[in-house]
Amino acid sequence: MNSNANNSEHWASEHWAVVGGGLLGMTLALRLVQQGRKVTLLESRPNPGGLADAWQIGDCHWDRHYHVTLLSDLHTRNLVNELGLESEMQWVETKTGFYTDGSLHSMSNSVEFLRFPPLRFIDKLRLGGTIVYASRLKNWKRLEQIPVADWLRKLSGQRTFEKIWLPLLRCKLGECWRDTSAAFIWATIARMYAARRTGLKKELFGYCRGGYANILERFTRRLNELGVEVCCNAPVQRIEGNQAGQLCLTLSDGPRTFDRVVCTVPTPLMSRMCPDLSAAEQQRFDGIRFHGIVCASVLLSRSLSPFYVTNITDAGFPFTAVIEMTSLIDKRELNGQSLVYLPRYVTPDDEIFDRSDAEIEHEFLSGLQRMHPTLSLADVKAFRISRAKHVFALPTLGYSDRLPPISTSVPGLYSLNSAHIVNGTLNVNETIRLAEDFVGRMMQDEFQRPNEVVAPGLSQSRHSLQPV
Ligand SMILES: Cc1cc2nc3c(=O)[nH]c(=O)nc-3n(C[C@H](O)[C@H](O)[C@H](O)COP(=O)(O)OP(=O)(O)OC[C@H]3O[C@@H](n4cnc5c(N)ncnc54)[C@H](O)[C@@H]3O)c2cc1C
Repeated sequence: MNSNANNSEHWASEHWAVVGGGLLGMTLALRLVQQGRKVTLLESRPNPGGLADAWQIGDCHWDRHYHVTLLSDLHTRNLVNELGLESEMQWVETKTGFYTDGSLHSMSNSVEFLRFPPLRFIDKLRLGGTIVYASRLKNWKRLEQIPVADWLRKLSGQRTFEKIWLPLLRCKLGECWRDTSAAFIWATIARMYAARRTGLKKELFGYCRGGYANILERFTRRLNELGVEVCCNAPVQRIEGNQAGQLCLTLSDGPRTFDRVVCTVPTPLMSRMCPDLSAAEQQRFDGIRFHGIVCASVLLSRSLSPFYVTNITDAGFPFTAVIEMTSLIDKRELNGQSLVYLPRYVTPDDEIFDRSDAEIEHEFLSGLQRMHPTLSLADVKAFRISRAKHVFALPTLGYSDRLPPISTSVPGLYSLNSAHIVNGTLNVNETIRLAEDFVGRMMQDEFQRPNEVVAPGLSQSRHSLQPV
């Protein structure tokens, strides 16, 4: 028997822990158990799903954060098919709006783009040219070295930068736009164009009937059927190596040992959880800056606009966009009501995380009424706020060269999370791809060398939509 076969036999008997039951952890658990591994999934919250989970709002149950699938999201669609939910997917053409100079404008096709008042014809040409140019660029590594503002100013001109790009960058990145590379905007545009590259003239957005709750319920059931031990309300406090060469996890009800652990929690939490990491590794983990979100769900008795997304370029709003979910999903999903999300992207130390729900509700609804003066508080049926301090890693200059390792110096301990999406932005498709790439490489023994820093091959494809 050769050494590979010996190794395979040995690994097949290993017990893996996957820390974090978001879609990354769930996909890792699925693919590992399908490879014959024994797997335990440990999730700190009462149910799996992470950022994609669903909650109760008024008399409805829907996603805690807005989610759409694109036709080009083949990894997501394959997983949905594997879970037997293909026929539940609905595909809809949506509209996009801009709130600019105190009024709403539709920007859903080329004619509307040409009519868009705040820009002159020449500005529009340069804006359109920037988008087409970016959609054709392949060398994202070079863009990582260029500040996003320099790149956009050069291509689109100062006026378009100030009127359009800067407000959009601020919406997503706050003042961190100053440290962000041009790869950020390139990846966003690449995702917008992904469906068109598959031959479609227009973009369709998809959702699963019943929302992510439906997908997650099926997914959890499949994991259980395959023998994955799914433990919720199980926050992992520490991960340490023991003398027997195993990994000891500290949980609130005591320690548990595993042969291998893949930890999917956000990078900045790794060094606190894993004291055995070398100082150099800890520095790398701590060096990745994450951005967070405060996202309100507002259930309304009426619609606000025909737009799925309304981008805001005017200053002074407490939220950074308006997402009208019921412009995409059938209102019958929500008992005939409308669901609107009001996101605000912020750094993890932003003061908004300490503010009360009532304060945020008052501020956000006032902003919404300013944008839609006919909206009355009597139209608001329910209001709920989600807070998440670690949502996506900021694509700072030279980002991929500073990534922390996937395979750490602690034998058997791996760290994998959305920070490892090196040339794209955060979305479910890339999350699933990350998990599948990892397990594929694991099966080919590519992670047996300790201290391996993420190899450039891990995520080479073009991605992805930042959540708006
Ligand atoms: C506002 C918003 C809008 C989005 N819109 C879209 C969209 O339209 N389309 C799209 O494709 N994607 C979208 N996404 C992105 C999508 O939600 C993510 O890609 C995906 O959910 C990331 O999954 P994850 O498992 O990597 O991370 P997470 O979902 O963050 O999972 C990490 C898990 O680890 C758990 N955990 C943390 N610490 C511990 C611990 N110590 N012990 C045990 N468990 C722990 C957490 O509770 C969590 O469940 C959006 C995200 C947001 C926030």
